[in-house]
Amino acid sequence: MSKPLTIEFSGKCIIVTGGNRGIGLGFSRALAKAGARVAIIYKSNKDAPKVAEDLEKEFSVKVRAYKCDVTNAKQTVEMFESIDKELGPVTGLIANAGVSVVKPALELTTEDFKYVYNVNVLGVFNSAVAAAKLWKGKKLENLSIVITSSISSQIINQAATNEPLTQVFYNSSKAAVSNLTMGLAAEWANHNIRVNSVAPGYVKTDQTDNLPDEVIQYEKDHIPMRKFATPDQIAGQALFLLSEYASYMTGGEHRVDGGQLIW
Ligand code: NDP
Repeated sequence: MSKPLTIEFSGKCIIVTGGNRGIGLGFSRALAKAGARVAIIYKSNKDAPKVAEDLEKEFSVKVRAYKCDVTNAKQTVEMFESIDKELGPVTGLIANAGVSVVKPALELTTEDFKYVYNVNVLGVFNSAVAAAKLWKGKKLENLSIVITSSISSQIINQAATNEPLTQVFYNSSKAAVSNLTMGLAAEWANHNIRVNSVAPGYVKTDQTDNLPDEVIQYEKDHIPMRKFATPDQIAGQALFLLSEYASYMTGGEHRVDGGQLIW
């Protein structure tokens, strides 16, 4: 009898930006469980090293936390190089770190714009480029980048509550990321690097816990599956895209949204 299909990453090293909490922690946990050595990038959260230590103990694989601001290109390149030396060779990246500012459009400022776009667009770009630089000229198998986008790259969500609130900078930054995914995929396809994105709907994390209650209730009422996802429910798609089962897939945005976009 043939073996069941399993996704496993024994001997592989994967970097997860924002991998210490929320959706990113779901990715780190799933990767550690699948046998990968995991490099968690975080910005400033003091609990991150302990999160890595706990995963390392639970799954008996190397999991390390590295403090790095992905909006800083030089710092990101240097950090990826030192991760590659310590845990590598790195063969995959999940560029997941992201932020939002929830305010009506009339109250949004230039500083809010820079904050959101610097992490969500420039930070993703910096991370992808830092990975591609590591891989340049090396003969490694199945190099894959997965970017955390959002279904808000395609829809204006939260637009129909009593107090419409659309997170215009966040949503438009995800549309930018969706296009960036296609551009990098096209440029790097010949270099054996695949680039895809996962587009979650609502997921229960610190980011969504900060939304107004009425928005949370409205959104749950407008998701066919009537609930937000857990981070673990997003991880399967990312692991699939990183794996060899997805070896002919590049440039796509892949929804995991409880059916939200079909309504
Ligand atoms: P969280 O707010 O729970 O966590 C954000 C993570 O990003 C943290 O690990 C944080 O590090 C890290 N981070 C932020 N800024 C930087 C930076 N400059 N450099 C390095 N790391 C940074 O986010 P979520 O888990 O909710 O979201 C993760 C991704 O998923 C984001 O891209 C988000 O847009 C996307 N997404 C989220 C959805 C949701 O419903 N939650 C839905 C769809 C997409 P630290 O802990 O040190 O602050």
